[in-house]
Amino acid sequence: MSPNGGVTKLSDTFGALTFTGEVMRRHLPEDAYEKLVHTMQRGLPLDPAVAGMVAAAMKSWALEHGCTHYTHWFQPLTGHTAEKHDAFLSPNGVGGAIEAFSAPQLIQGEPDASSFPSGGIRETFEARGYTAWDATSPAFIFKTPDSATLCIPTAFVSWTGEALDKKTPLLRSIQAVSDQALRILRIFGTHKGVSRVITTIGSEQEYFLVDRSFHDRREDLRLCGRTLIGAPAPKGHQLDDHYFGAIPERVMAFMTEVERHLYELGVPVKTRHNEVAPNQYEFAPIFESANVASDHQMLMMQMLRTVAERHGFVCLLHEKPFAGINGSGKHNNWSISTDTGVNLLDPHVETHTHMQFLVFLLACVRAVDLHADLLRASVASAANDHRLGANEAPPAIMSIYLGDMLSDILAQLAQGGAHSTKKGGSLDLGARTLPQIPRHSGDRNRTSPFAFTGNKFEFRAVGSSQAIAWANTVLNTIIAESLDFMATELQTRAGKNPAPAKLETAVKALLKEVVKKHRRVIFDGDNYSEAWHKEAERRGLPNLKTTVDALPALATKKAQELFQRYNVLNKRELQARVDVNFERYNRTVAIEARTLVSMLKREVQPAALRFQTELAHAVASSESAGVKCPDTKAQLVRIVGLLAELSAAIVAVEKAEALRLPDHVTRAHHTRDKLLPAMAEARRISDTLEQSVPDDVWPLPRYSEMLFVK
Ligand code: ADP
Ligand code: MG
Repeated sequence: MSPNGGVTKLSDTFGALTFTGEVMRRHLPEDAYEKLVHTMQRGLPLDPAVAGMVAAAMKSWALEHGCTHYTHWFQPLTGHTAEKHDAFLSPNGVGGAIEAFSAPQLIQGEPDASSFPSGGIRETFEARGYTAWDATSPAFIFKTPDSATLCIPTAFVSWTGEALDKKTPLLRSIQAVSDQALRILRIFGTHKGVSRVITTIGSEQEYFLVDRSFHDRREDLRLCGRTLIGAPAPKGHQLDDHYFGAIPERVMAFMTEVERHLYELGVPVKTRHNEVAPNQYEFAPIFESANVASDHQMLMMQMLRTVAERHGFVCLLHEKPFAGINGSGKHNNWSISTDTGVNLLDPHVETHTHMQFLVFLLACVRAVDLHADLLRASVASAANDHRLGANEAPPAIMSIYLGDMLSDILAQLAQGGAHSTKKGGSLDLGARTLPQIPRHSGDRNRTSPFAFTGNKFEFRAVGSSQAIAWANTVLNTIIAESLDFMATELQTRAGKNPAPAKLETAVKALLKEVVKKHRRVIFDGDNYSEAWHKEAERRGLPNLKTTVDALPALATKKAQELFQRYNVLNKRELQARVDVNFERYNRTVAIEARTLVSMLKREVQPAALRFQTELAHAVASSESAGVKCPDTKAQLVRIVGLLAELSAAIVAVEKAEALRLPDHVTRAHHTRDKLLPAMAEARRISDTLEQSVPDDVWPLPRYSEMLFVK
C-alpha cells in the first residue's frame, strides 16, 4: 500500500504507456538511449544502427504490456488518424511462431495509399504509399478492455515522396520557423547554446456530451454529428449558469477516466470545466512542442469519443451540434521558444527595451496581416462555417488583439521609438482579509480570433473537430516568411556583426515601418459588433465568410510560392489540400441533405400527419356534437398548411442535392448558395411543426432533453 492510503498519484502513472523517459532508459543500451534522446529533443537524424535496438526495446516493452499487435499510426487528409494493425507473430518455420519486430518494421510501413484522400496525387491504380517512423513523437500503447496495441507515430507519403498526410507538412513548417528564428537570434547574439527553435502548442478542446439514448434516436446525430432539425429549448445559456458550474457527477466520472488514460499516454491534460453552453465542456492540456501536441490532440479526441460511450454518453466534437447554442472550438495557444526553454514571445517587464521580443511580435503581426486569407483558409470546413461565418465567436475576419500595454508600445514605435511600458499595478479588493493581487497590464479579449495572451498567441478560429496540424502548418509557414523578412531587412540595414547602436537604429526603423504598414490588422475592441465588420471593411481586411470563399486563397500563386519557398508543400501537394477540402465540404453537406430528407420524410411528416388526423377527429367529433371549435380548426388549418410547405421544401432539398455539376468548385458554390439555404428553409418549417406537435407523437428527442439531461 502506498503511503497515501492506496491512492495512486497522477504523476506516478504519467507516461506509463509511452516509450519515453524512464521506460526508454530501462529498455535501451546507454548509448542508443542517448542517441534517441538527441533525435527526439534536437530533431537530429537518427543513426540507422540505433533503429534496430529501438525496435527490439519497443517490442519487449510492448510485450510486457500484453501487446499482440503494432501499428503505424498516421494522419491522412481525412482529418482522423489511421492505423492498420499487424501481429508481432511470425512463423518460426518448424510449426511454431515467434514474436517478431525489427528495424524495417519500425521505420517503414506500406499502407494502400489509394483509399485515402490524396487530392489527385494518387489514383486508384497507383496505390503505393509509405509510412515513415517519426522518432520525435513517442510511440505509445493503446489499450482497450480486451486489447493492447503498440502505436508508432508516422508520416504518410506517396511513392512519389509527396506528403499525403498532415504530419509531414507540419514537421517541415516547424523546421522553417526554426531556421528563420535562429537567424533573428544570431542577429541579436542570443543564439548561444541554442540548436533549434521550436513552436509550442497548447490546444483547448471544447465538446458536448449527450446521453447515448437520445443520440441513438437521432439519425442526424448518428450520421452527421450535429442536429439538422430541432426547435430551440425554452432555455439556452442566457443565465450563464452552466459556465464553470459544478461538474455533474456522471460527467466527472467520464472526465476522470479520460484523464487517467491520457496521463498514461503522456498527454498532459491540466484543466477541465463546464463551458458556456449547456452540456458543453472543455479539456486543456499543458503546452508541448508542436508535433507532439498535434499527435496528443488526436489522441485526446479519440479518447473523448471512446470513453464517453462507456459512460452512456456520446461525445460530440462537431463545431455546431445545436443551432442557437454556442458552438465548439479548439483554442490553439501558440508560441515559439528556443530548445533551451526561452519563450521568444515573452515580453518581460520593461517590454519597450526588449527589441528581440518586439521583432518576433511584429513578425507575427505582419504575417497575420499579409496572410489573413491563408489563416482563414486553414480552418475552413462546412462545420466551422457555422461558427466563423455566423454571428458567433470568433468572426471570419482575422485580426489581432494585443491589449493595452503592447498597443501602447506599438503606438510609440510608430512615432520612432518606444520609451515606456504601461504597468498593471495591483488590485485592492477592498476587504482587509483578501490579498492584494497583481493586475495584468492589459485586459482579456474573448472575441478576437488571434489574441496575444501574455506570452503566446491564441488562435481561436480552429474548429473543435479539426486536426490542429494543418492550421499550425499554415501558421508556422506564414510566420517563417515574416521572420525571414525581418532577418533579411535587419541584415541589409545593419550589416554583418553590427555594433549595438547601429543594430538598435536599424531595429527601430524597421519596427516603425512594420507597425505603420500592418497595424490595420490590430483590433482590441468587440469583434462581434456590427461596427467592427464595417470598420474591417474600411481597413480592407478580408472577410471570408464561408469555406467556398476561403479555400481559393490556398490556390493562388502567392500561396504556392510561399509554401514552396519554405519547403512545406510543393504546388501539387498544396493543390491536393485545396481539392480535398472542397470535396469534403461538398460531401459533408450532401450527406447532411440526404439525412435531413430521410428524417423529414420518415419521422417529421408522419408525426405531423398523425397530429393533423388527431385534430381533424377532434374538429369532426365536436362539430357533430353541435359544439363549434374555431381554435382547433384554425390549428388544423395551420398544420395542413405547414405540411404542404414542408413537402415543397423537401422536394427543393432533394432537387438541389441531386444536381450533378462538372467540378467541385462549381458544386461548392451550388452547395453554399442553393443547397444549404434549401436545408435551412426545410428546417425552419420542421422546427415550427415541432413546437406544435405533442410529445407523445413527436418521435425525436428534443433540444430540452439533449441539452439538459445530464
Ligand atoms: P489562459 O488563461 O490565457 O487561457 P492558460 O495558462 O490557462 O492561459 O493556458 C491556456 C493554454 O495555453 C494551455 O493549454 C497552456 O498550456 C497553453 N500555453 C501556455 N503557455 C504556452 C506557450 N508558451 N505556448 C503554447 N501554449 C501555451
Ligand atoms: Mg485560453
